[in-house]
Amino acid sequence: MTRYSKHITKNATPQSARASAKQVRNSADGYTFAVDKWARLERLLILGAEGGTYYASERKLVLENARCVAACLDEDGARTVATLVAVSEAGRAPKQSPTLFALALACAHSSEATRGVALAALPQVCRTGSQLFEFLTTVQELRGWGRGLRRAVCRWYMTKTPDALAYQVVKYRQRAGFSHRDALRLAGGAIGPRSLEQDALLRWITTGSSGFGARTVVRSGKTQTYDAIPREALPSLVSAFEALQAESSPQAAARLIVEHRMTHEMVPSSLHGSPEVWRALLEQMPMTAMLRNLGRLTSLGLVAQGSDACALVVSRLADVDRLRKARLHPLAVLVALNTYRLGHGVRGSMSWKPVPQVVAALEGAFDLTFGSIPATKARTLFALDVSGSMAMGQVAGMTGITPRVGSAAMAMATMRVEPNYMVMGFSHKLVPVALHPRMSLGEVIKTVSSVPMGATDCAQPMLWAAQTNTKVDAFVVYTDNETWFGQVHPHQALDRYRQQTGLAAKLIVVGMTATKFSIASPDDPGMLDVVGFDTAAPRVMADFITG
Ligand code: CA
Repeated sequence: MTRYSKHITKNATPQSARASAKQVRNSADGYTFAVDKWARLERLLILGAEGGTYYASERKLVLENARCVAACLDEDGARTVATLVAVSEAGRAPKQSPTLFALALACAHSSEATRGVALAALPQVCRTGSQLFEFLTTVQELRGWGRGLRRAVCRWYMTKTPDALAYQVVKYRQRAGFSHRDALRLAGGAIGPRSLEQDALLRWITTGSSGFGARTVVRSGKTQTYDAIPREALPSLVSAFEALQAESSPQAAARLIVEHRMTHEMVPSSLHGSPEVWRALLEQMPMTAMLRNLGRLTSLGLVAQGSDACALVVSRLADVDRLRKARLHPLAVLVALNTYRLGHGVRGSMSWKPVPQVVAALEGAFDLTFGSIPATKARTLFALDVSGSMAMGQVAGMTGITPRVGSAAMAMATMRVEPNYMVMGFSHKLVPVALHPRMSLGEVIKTVSSVPMGATDCAQPMLWAAQTNTKVDAFVVYTDNETWFGQVHPHQALDRYRQQTGLAAKLIVVGMTATKFSIASPDDPGMLDVVGFDTAAPRVMADFITG
């Protein structure tokens, strides 16, 4: 007798078939659930679409995500913009590019109200001149320079104090084919009341140092006469910047840099190889710049075992306040660590001998940038998808950080605080992944990179726990959700595990790519989606586990 019912009563559907009407086909031809557009928006903002995924080209992934942003804007423009601002201001994303892209889409939306909200958010999202230029490059491909955009750009310049604006103007002089002069010209010039200092700075931006005498300008048929402006009204940083451009003595340059708190972008290229200049720059160096220049500082001999520059770098990397204020993202720290420990740059010929104290300080900073991660003491199984697709592409476009490496590093931060952790790797079967919390991230990267690849079955963690009768309160699965291989869906495997053990085990899916797929069932309150490398994720996960 053929027992037809066996195919429907065991709560087991092959992943190649739909287990629920809510499931959609993923890129690997398996069936998964889909996160809603708001969750996908957060995935885009944090993980980006650069480099695409194993399955989707960058172009395809960007277009899909643009459609998702458009759908969010259509449903609730204000909520969409509020999400962009929140992610940006809290430093939850490793890169601003996806947020700037989404903001540009919002500024070009068909609803006037949405455009207004988006343009008003410009200074909150574009905090630096560089971000402003990147935004403008994108937005002008999507819409014209209408009145709203002109006013918003003008506001960006006019609401800053002269000193703050001067810093942005001399630090980011041009990028993406834009200069401040271009931006102000396209914005139709500055409007509204302004101080003598602002006037002087605007003239310096638009005409350089020659524009300070009285002059007559004919604009739209109207003749306007401008009085002479004293050069002394310029912020002191501008004069110092001009002096630095003409400087050839490293000692004199170093004095200017320290006195005026100047950054490396303001230094002429003739002085870029000077250790004295870099030592001066290090005094007030912003954290992101310090992270990017650790190799250079080491190769110049400044950062060396026992040097005062080394002590300064190490103490800053342990300074929680400084890390937080700089909105330093763990992924940026991970990339810096990965580059620094290799001893040579990705491009160019610079090489250095990594200083162990700096490597250790970067390891510590990685955990600190997640904020304080609460320990739940729950029996937590960290399950890392190490299948082939996780070894392709880059998280947030970060060099060398595949989803596989990124997820292992992120899991480490939580493993270091959780006393009752278990860890496993899986592809279509269990894959031993020898990770432990005392391991350095360098060792983690090496270990995970050498794991053999395979097909994908995201039900493996739950099946393993059931087979071995292991007690698990929370399964935390780091994956791209491209599951297709198994004979039972992950949510079904979890249901069966709960029935077998009587435990109300939870499932947290840490999505590592900006797709819409998820193995978590939206109808099960015991399942949660979070975004990989969202700095808010560890706390959300802990709250969910402790209920
Ligand atoms: Ca896979």
